Amino acid sequence: MTDIRHIAAHVCNYTNFDAVVIGSGPSGSIVARTLAEKGCHVAVLEYGGPACPGAMLGPHQAAYSKALTSNGHADGNPWTACCVGGGMGFYNAITFRYRQADLSASQYLTTDMAIDWPITVEELEPYYLEIEHLLEISGANGFPSYPASPRGLMLSNAMQELGIRSKTIPLAIRPPGTNKGCINCSACDELACPTDARASVLARNILDDSALPGTISVLYGCFVNRIQMQNDGRAGALECYVPLSSELIRIPIERVIVCANAIQTAALMLRSKSDHAPKGIGNESGLVGRGLSFKIGGYSVGYMERADGGSDAFAPHWGPHSTVYTDEFYEHNGAPCKFGGLIYEANFPLPNENVGVVRLHYIAGEEPWSHNRVALDEAADQYGTPYIRFEYRSSENDRARRNFLADRADDILRHLRAFRIEREPYFPGKGSSHLHGTMRAGSDPRNSVVDSCGRVHGLTNIHVMDGSVMNFAGNSNPTHTIMANARRMAMSLGEGAI
Ligand SMILES: Cc1cc2nc3c(=O)[nH]c(=O)nc-3n(C[C@H](O)[C@H](O)[C@H](O)COP(=O)(O)OP(=O)(O)OC[C@H]3O[C@@H](n4cnc5c(N)ncnc54)[C@H](O)[C@@H]3O)c2cc1C
Repeated sequence: MTDIRHIAAHVCNYTNFDAVVIGSGPSGSIVARTLAEKGCHVAVLEYGGPACPGAMLGPHQAAYSKALTSNGHADGNPWTACCVGGGMGFYNAITFRYRQADLSASQYLTTDMAIDWPITVEELEPYYLEIEHLLEISGANGFPSYPASPRGLMLSNAMQELGIRSKTIPLAIRPPGTNKGCINCSACDELACPTDARASVLARNILDDSALPGTISVLYGCFVNRIQMQNDGRAGALECYVPLSSELIRIPIERVIVCANAIQTAALMLRSKSDHAPKGIGNESGLVGRGLSFKIGGYSVGYMERADGGSDAFAPHWGPHSTVYTDEFYEHNGAPCKFGGLIYEANFPLPNENVGVVRLHYIAGEEPWSHNRVALDEAADQYGTPYIRFEYRSSENDRARRNFLADRADDILRHLRAFRIEREPYFPGKGSSHLHGTMRAGSDPRNSVVDSCGRVHGLTNIHVMDGSVMNFAGNSNPTHTIMANARRMAMSLGEGAI
């Protein structure tokens, strides 16, 4: 069984690990599993503790530092979720594959950065398939589909009447009525699933090493401050802060794989200045942190008349955040640059918040620009760690693409005879739970930080395998692709290299 414990309770020394993974989210967990399958002894270092089943994201995250944003306030979110399992512990389990257009978006978009990925969708295919089996994705590979919710059915009918194709969402949630299936206890969003019907790194045993030749030790309560470089140009140790004991500890390493999310990973590299890396690790060309990209998107809420065929909209909502979507506008002649995104059902987190309303979410990948970046501020937090600062402004083209999708969402709600439609306020630049682009991947060190397998250019034992290596954010929810790509990169670490 995988050893998961607070780092203060780790009594052995740290010298018997072949590799150390920073971050226990879906990327770090699948990397640790892949290496343990190869017989490695892996430590996973995680800042946050375990999240209780049924916990809400907001109160859970309240303890962790915010980021400074362009308005000068500490109101940015530099995390998905800081806990064992990362953002997957609270996610909505929407599990789309990316399309080739996401990996070669330069056919639609132009920015001042290389936007195409150094790999193709075909190269991700076998890893998508493995993750779909591991997570038991509904509707794929013989797993049953997750049925549309009452609001999902209403939306699906409205879309069909408008000539817009609608589909059921592939979810990493076991459908109701199946073995250990969903019991529709709440509305899922921003909630740690209390029954394990929804996949997480713990609920699907991704971190379970019991049948593997290697071992995985998850040590939480430990913030990795810096990667320390040796004179030979190799990473030699990690400097970590343990808030519980107010101690700085040093963990020697053979190999480190950073999977801390696109914001925290870039910040860690920038903090890791040394004589060997005076601007931070991998940052000779000043690229680390640049190309920060979230999703452009938002929510439209339709307020329904009880008499107007919207009777299903007057029941509370229990079950997944979302069951129905359309990809009609993903690549679409009417969209600005012919590149739109997804529109899907998006229920509020609490069942009763949904009474009388139907809510839609629209998302698309944001353009990466070099002026959008993660930087370190001069001010430090209570532990002496420099605050993360987002320098960010959205592009005109992104605003046009977003407005196009919002208009299409409003068309659907209007067709449902919503008597009022409101677009929720949108705060670009304050962060998102979809984080990409700050450690760009490619073969040329002049316009990328890591190679196509996540190895930092010019260094032999520092790798990055999270969403930060995604050159374009993609028009879909990213976790399936983050995991498949992390698995691909971890598989590429040959036996001899570990
Ligand atoms: C409410 C919510 C709903 C979501 N819904 C979906 C969805 O339906 N579909 C989808 O595809 N995606 C969804 N996401 C996004 C998804 O959670 C992320 O894409 C995914 O978690 C990214 O995985 P990761 O491993 O790269 O990063 P993370 O999950 O962020 O994991 C990184 C881990 O590293 C730890 N860490 C960071 N810095 C340090 C450090 N210096 N020292 C030690 N540890 C550190 C963090 O605490 C964290 O646990 C959602 C997210 C949220 C919050």
